[in-house]
Amino acid sequence: MSAQLIDGKKVSADIRESLKQEIADLKGKGIDPCLAVVLVGENPASKKYVASKEKTCAELGIVSIAHKIPETISQADLNKLIDDLNSDKKVHGILVQLPLPKGLDEKEVMYRIAPDKDVDGFGLQSLGKLLLDEPGFVACTPHGVMKMLEAYGIDPSGKHAVVIGRSVIVGKPLALLLLRKNATVTICHSRTQNLKEECLKADILCVAIGKAKFVKGDWIKKGATVVDVGINVGEDGKLVGDVDFQAVQEHASWITPVPGGVGPMTIAMLMYNTVQAAKKTA
Ligand code: NAD
Repeated sequence: MSAQLIDGKKVSADIRESLKQEIADLKGKGIDPCLAVVLVGENPASKKYVASKEKTCAELGIVSIAHKIPETISQADLNKLIDDLNSDKKVHGILVQLPLPKGLDEKEVMYRIAPDKDVDGFGLQSLGKLLLDEPGFVACTPHGVMKMLEAYGIDPSGKHAVVIGRSVIVGKPLALLLLRKNATVTICHSRTQNLKEECLKADILCVAIGKAKFVKGDWIKKGATVVDVGINVGEDGKLVGDVDFQAVQEHASWITPVPGGVGPMTIAMLMYNTVQAAKKTA
């Protein structure tokens, strides 16, 4: 058996395309959707992520205002910048690229972003609403995973979904979103015993660990859907996921590739959240 690909490039392109009309409508009402991007320090991966977010904003006609700040900034000054962006009426969404350099408190910054501008969905109110099944900003990567499943008609209802990883950025919100769609959800993590046996129960297996090719072919239930969130740099310098793609695709019926799977969805959902934030001001 050879699994069919869940094409994140295509699904994300469709989402970006549908946003263009919404952006045009907003502009017609005199609203220019605007994302403020805060990059602290010189982390090369963060710089790359910020550059691609700015590029996608430009392609869609979303204004992006970059605040590129030295890592010597104090917590008080960074807090002040967030306060200024919170009260700036031109700004609809605020994104602070993580990780922040040592010495800066990420939670303090995330929790300071105004809930109606929290397009990354990491603030207390966004996370609380997710838990309570109320409408609110949903973190972009797990939201993107759900949109991919939807686009391919993969309905989690009644299925056994296993999520490996319990981060606030991916694993936990993804588990809650799958639960919201009526899956029976198991969350696995670094202390889980018998991980292979847990994976073998999964109709939908989502992997967000950060370890290259960690999930093996014989961990997969025949016909399962496998979503690989991981981004790792392989020995050959190329991007590789948390799943051993070649081996796993022999057992799965659907699989996301790396690159070209979840990655493009994350940026598309950031754009989606920014447009929703702008629409709320209309
Ligand atoms: P994290 O380091 O915060 O969390 C990793 C999780 O994996 C932890 O909950 C940990 O318990 C679990 N884990 C670690 N070792 C394990 C093991 N041996 N067995 C079982 N579980 C184990 O990472 P994160 O921020 O959630 O990111 C996970 C991966 O997803 C990374 O590769 C990251 O680069 C990638 N990621 C991709 C996107 C995207 O847009 N595609 C977005 C965010 C993160």
